Amino acid sequence: MAKNDIKILMAKDGIENSHQIDVAMKHGAYSALKKALKMENTAITSEVKTSGVRGRGGAGFPAGIKWGFMPIGDRKKKPNYVVVNADESEPGTFKDRWLIEKDPHMLIEGIIITSYAVEAHVAYIYIRGEYYKQALILEKAIEEAYAKGFLGKNILGSGFDLELTVHRGAGAYICGEETALLNSLEGRRGYPRIKPPYFPAAIGVFMCPTLVNNVETIANVPWIIENGGEAFSEIGKPNNTGTKLLSVSGHVNLPGVYEVPLGLNLMTLINDYCGGIRDGHKLKAVIPGGSSMPVLKAEECDVDMDFDALKNAGSSLGSGGVIVMDETTCMVDVCLNLLKFYAHESCGQCTPCREGMPWMARMLQRIKSGEGRPEDIELVLNVADYVGGDIDFSRGKLGKTICALGEAGSWPTIALIKKYRDEFEHFCKNHEPLIKRDKSIKTPKNAIAEVVAT
Ligand code: SF4
Repeated sequence: MAKNDIKILMAKDGIENSHQIDVAMKHGAYSALKKALKMENTAITSEVKTSGVRGRGGAGFPAGIKWGFMPIGDRKKKPNYVVVNADESEPGTFKDRWLIEKDPHMLIEGIIITSYAVEAHVAYIYIRGEYYKQALILEKAIEEAYAKGFLGKNILGSGFDLELTVHRGAGAYICGEETALLNSLEGRRGYPRIKPPYFPAAIGVFMCPTLVNNVETIANVPWIIENGGEAFSEIGKPNNTGTKLLSVSGHVNLPGVYEVPLGLNLMTLINDYCGGIRDGHKLKAVIPGGSSMPVLKAEECDVDMDFDALKNAGSSLGSGGVIVMDETTCMVDVCLNLLKFYAHESCGQCTPCREGMPWMARMLQRIKSGEGRPEDIELVLNVADYVGGDIDFSRGKLGKTICALGEAGSWPTIALIKKYRDEFEHFCKNHEPLIKRDKSIKTPKNAIAEVVAT
């Protein structure tokens, strides 16, 4: 397959001022909305089910099935809400930022169609506090959409009403967890809620049924309606349909956001799309789906970038944040950086996460400071078992905490130690790293973030 030959989400890439409504409309924006408003709302959900699109925020749950949980028609007893999760905070992930900056009207159009399908008359975009510029772009785009009659009362004479608001978070990673996000949206502290009973489709924002979807998931909706769910399902692989935005950072020559068909080989992504590893270095490892996913060693990277293949490889597609590391990367450093992040972002509700994450980070800091003891390695693994266990259920048990942040810290920690144990042992024994960072290597031009491997 030729590079970049399928464009659903990045169709307006390279078009000047594509965030402005007149430019966007010249390139097809809001035509799917006109079609959707003439359809039965249940037919829209059917198209989304047929497309097979799976949630792009991390969990990969089929979007059409999720929409089907929303009570509509006679089953609707309370107002329904749509909430778009734009709290993109997973280290290594910056693809929703691209969508919001370059094509906010595709997202807004997707929100209107989604709200029509699930009979919601109020929708929110919850955006992370750090995305200030992006929040302004969205607010301006929403204003333009109201002015054109795509939002507000009686949209395009259809009788359907929708109010859409941007809500800025305050910069907490945990508010990307959907129930913490809903608490935050209500003005409460961003604590994840216990599921059950707080499944958003039953008890969501303001205790009403709420559909929470990621930005990228919703951005696919106009294309699905315009071209049909069947056409979408023919892209990618069975059970892994459509394209995926991958944000690639780290030690490649061309970091950035790429739209690829699901199932593209990871090595093709690195070599053909991203220009290979910087300065002729060798690939050492890749975290394929955002920092909370287990690392793949170089020899494990001949793998398809889709939900099922990566799961079979012992990792996950997660949020599509691909972090590439070359052989100059010290894995003790990587582990410490990750644990510091998760320790800082723990909301503190659950003891294993609140206490375990900083404990592991302190032990890694001790190793890094040259005061590590050989027994620290097993101790870190043991604590990780109690916090979240391993992705393959081989250590401890999953689900010991209210939300998945426990697993988000323990999965990469266990994988890094299991796969690069010699580096941890060397540090504990010799009190210096096995891999010394080559500080002469410069970050590639246009690098968005060397998120972990610094
Ligand atoms: Fe909070 Fe961590 Fe428990 Fe999640 S796992 S609810 S972040 S303490």
